[in-house]
Amino acid sequence: MLPRPLVAQGAQPRIVVIGGGFAGATAARFLKLTDPRLNVTLVEPNPIYTACPFSNEVIAGLRDMRAQLFRYDRIAGDGVVMVHQTATGVDGQARSVTLGNGTKLNYDRLVLAPGSDPRFDALPGYDEAATERMPHAWKAGAQTLLLRRQLEAMDDGGTVVMVLPALPYRCPPASYERASLIAYYLKTKKPRSKLVVLDAKDTFSMQRLFENAWKELYPNLEWMPASSGGNPTGVDVATMTVSSDFDTYKADVANVIPPQKAGRIAELAGTADRTGWCPVEPVTFESRLVPGIHVLGDAAIAGAIPKSAFASNAAAKICAAAVAKLVRGEMPAAPKFVNTCYSLVAPDYGISIAAVYHVENDAITIVPGSQTSASALMSFSGSADSLRSTNRMFGLAETDSD
Ligand SMILES: Cc1cc2nc3c(=O)[nH]c(=O)nc-3n(C[C@H](O)[C@H](O)[C@H](O)COP(=O)(O)OP(=O)(O)OC[C@H]3O[C@@H](n4cnc5c(N)ncnc54)[C@H](O)[C@@H]3O)c2cc1C
Repeated sequence: MLPRPLVAQGAQPRIVVIGGGFAGATAARFLKLTDPRLNVTLVEPNPIYTACPFSNEVIAGLRDMRAQLFRYDRIAGDGVVMVHQTATGVDGQARSVTLGNGTKLNYDRLVLAPGSDPRFDALPGYDEAATERMPHAWKAGAQTLLLRRQLEAMDDGGTVVMVLPALPYRCPPASYERASLIAYYLKTKKPRSKLVVLDAKDTFSMQRLFENAWKELYPNLEWMPASSGGNPTGVDVATMTVSSDFDTYKADVANVIPPQKAGRIAELAGTADRTGWCPVEPVTFESRLVPGIHVLGDAAIAGAIPKSAFASNAAAKICAAAVAKLVRGEMPAAPKFVNTCYSLVAPDYGISIAAVYHVENDAITIVPGSQTSASALMSFSGSADSLRSTNRMFGLAETDSD
């Protein structure tokens, strides 16, 4: 069921990408690098991208926020047309995108990569206004700095309460990395304080490695799984309390990570299903609901692929290659790729998990036996080096921080 090749018809295929995060920016750049004849436009409202990876280190006072900021110059330099607007509508039938300024962009194929949004209807008491008192800091930027300031302002002897949602959500390991690094900050700067983590889950990825580290380093961290009464049931901003199945906790600082869904534009485009996320085909990442739209990154439900920057980057390269083939009327090849996740539990102590993914029975699954996890003492800057060497090990392109 391949479309007629646009290239053969002499047209210059128009690919619009919405969202300039790890997924969208990578897809736009690789589309252009794969086939310079493609007319690629990247729609992203912000001229500067604020990255989530390493933002937990900003919260713990280990890293400057400026290190999280990235511009789009290199992507524009590769020939991608940058449009700094918000996409406000998508017409999948007419194949057009409407922008905040009223302009319409026509496309032959659309790549949607808007990331995830908090669900403000899921945890009673936690609405958009509540984020000003109880930051989620699950989108990096002002929220990250707010949580940092609140921790700094808290008296020694205070209680920090973290709320963690059920799966699926953006980068679950990052929530346990955050718990570790907040515990590190309290231990080193406010030793009479404690951290209570209320979790809607009973198990999580790299659990044994995290728990070993907590036992060794952080007696001030109490993790309460759902089955021990940790399941969060609501918050009250006025009294700064968080309720769980069994108890109510008074917080001096509350970090509430709410349940999430695909970014709003994915819903408007009709690509999100009842779960709030976007089901996609495994080889092309094309939406299972709206033809001609490919969904990448956190917004997609792509089998076993985790919602991480690393996986978003890998999937975007595969999707770019597939889209370049589809517009030529060719058949994309089934992908094989890797995800690696690094988490710091202290400045010199990191843990990691890696797995290889492939397509099997129309779904992306983990290659049996390929998943490995490890812990290591390391230098803080070493994590970027290990990321690069892992990429090399699996034969992947270097991740370019620009
Ligand atoms: C604290 C924390 C730590 C993390 N650490 C790691 C880590 O160490 N390693 C790792 O691999 N992953 C990590 N992650 C996960 C990673 O940040 C996400 O998986 C990744 O950002 C997903 O990329 P994305 O492109 O789908 O979404 P995003 O990076 O959120 O980008 C989405 C982009 O779309 C734009 N957008 C949204 N709506 C529109 C619209 N309507 N019009 C135009 N543009 C729009 C937004 O402005 C944004 O720039 C972490 C996450 C958190 C919260």
